[in-house]
Amino acid sequence: MNYLATIGLEVHVQLKTRSKMFCASPVEFGAEPNTHTCPICLGLPGALPVMNHEALRLTVLTGLMLGCDIAPICKFDRKNYFYPDMPKNYQISQYDMPLCTNGSVPLHDLAYPKDAQKNIATRDKEVHLVRIHLEEDVAKSFHFENSTGIDFNRAGTPLMEIVTQPEINSPEEAFAFLTALKQILIYGGVSDADMEKGQLRCDCNVSVRSEKQTELGAKIEIKNMNSISGVRRALAYEIQRQTSLLESSERLEQETRGWDDVAGETFLMRTKEFAHDYRYFPDPDLLPVKTEVLLADVRERVPELPKAKRARFVEQYQVSPYDAGVLANDLELARYFEAAAKGAKKPKNIANWILNDLQNALGAAGKTIDDCPIPPEALDELVNLIDSGKISGKQGKEVFAEMFATGRSAAAIVKEKGIEQLSDLSAIEAFCDEVIAANPKPVADFKRGNVASLNFLKGQVIKLSKGKANPQLAGEILERKLKR
Ligand code: ADP
Ligand code: MG
Repeated sequence: MNYLATIGLEVHVQLKTRSKMFCASPVEFGAEPNTHTCPICLGLPGALPVMNHEALRLTVLTGLMLGCDIAPICKFDRKNYFYPDMPKNYQISQYDMPLCTNGSVPLHDLAYPKDAQKNIATRDKEVHLVRIHLEEDVAKSFHFENSTGIDFNRAGTPLMEIVTQPEINSPEEAFAFLTALKQILIYGGVSDADMEKGQLRCDCNVSVRSEKQTELGAKIEIKNMNSISGVRRALAYEIQRQTSLLESSERLEQETRGWDDVAGETFLMRTKEFAHDYRYFPDPDLLPVKTEVLLADVRERVPELPKAKRARFVEQYQVSPYDAGVLANDLELARYFEAAAKGAKKPKNIANWILNDLQNALGAAGKTIDDCPIPPEALDELVNLIDSGKISGKQGKEVFAEMFATGRSAAAIVKEKGIEQLSDLSAIEAFCDEVIAANPKPVADFKRGNVASLNFLKGQVIKLSKGKANPQLAGEILERKLKR
């Protein structure tokens, strides 16, 4: 019997605002515990929330980037529950009127894990969304040996929840979805989406059913995943676990599980016998806002998205779709490429230098493109020197290494080292005449049809020029002179 897996993700994204969702306390990761708090985000009685309009804009921007429908009115509800990290006993969230509905995230080959890129089940798949709503993050608990501490710095951080349709079919697709989504969020400046900082977190819902069954199997939720590779491993484990239970004719029930990254296993947290009743009701402290007033402003902020950028790079710069994908994967790398390629005669060569030599050098030096010692215009200059034959490809590599180490320009290094190739036709012609006069035998051999003699003569020209003559030009000139 064949089994099918169905996955739906609930992704939480912290928005990149300066202040929190409903108060003026700053949003800052890694600050001393409980230093960025006020009566509102501490949930003290009587404190009144004030909406952060930038958070509304960033959520609407996400909706526009993902092709969602935007609700005409933005309204907040109270989700009631008791939990130590939520002392006002309700979380401000959105229930029946999420800011965004529908929309989708397009997957692309390079978003899949490297080892799975050759084996993609559905290329260019789009994963559809149910909704995107805005809420406040809660405080964070730290469990010590004999006590628990709570840090309220995180409480009240604007948090966007993105819910997908149950239409992801493998751990690799879930990986690709999160990678592609993260990229779009970074492109829009919506979030830094750094999972290590908890800026992007994810609950994975997964069920398995036999291929003969039409309705989905029991939904099992894995809570609080904080790395994309962890999501892949947890889903693979869980699909395997559920499949073997079904194979031994066990019944699966809806439940919530955790992920032990070290053991590489999921574990039972709770069985959900009945749905929670959060007693949602509209928050009377917050008046609804018409989104129309935000939309005009937000439309202007929609950037070129990764998919469009990849297509444009192929079209405008004639780079391969693969190279375009690697360049567009990283917004900073894409910016660097465009800055270097904008005036270049052969932008494809610029892409090659960036993706090979520059990436390798950055990797070896533990640097990123942000602190690259070679400015983009300087790389363009180097590639021009090579493409125009002023220096050889091999010399180019040496000059590149020196540029990377010192930050100096290619022209200055070439001049100092005196390695410029001689491309001055009259000078090379003079060397050729001299070599022809001094080597009557090889000249006669060539004229009789011994093609190899030309290489010997070319070598002599280069030797005479102390290695500076452009070999291709020297060959062409010799041939022209000897064929006469
Ligand atoms: P809940 O109300 O319990 O939060 P939802 O219906 O809102 O459940 O779905 C939450 C997430 O679970 C969504 O991403 C959805 O796509 C996914 N999901 C729902 N049912 C299933 C299922 N049977 N198998 C896998 N994923 C599912
Ligand atoms: Mg849910």
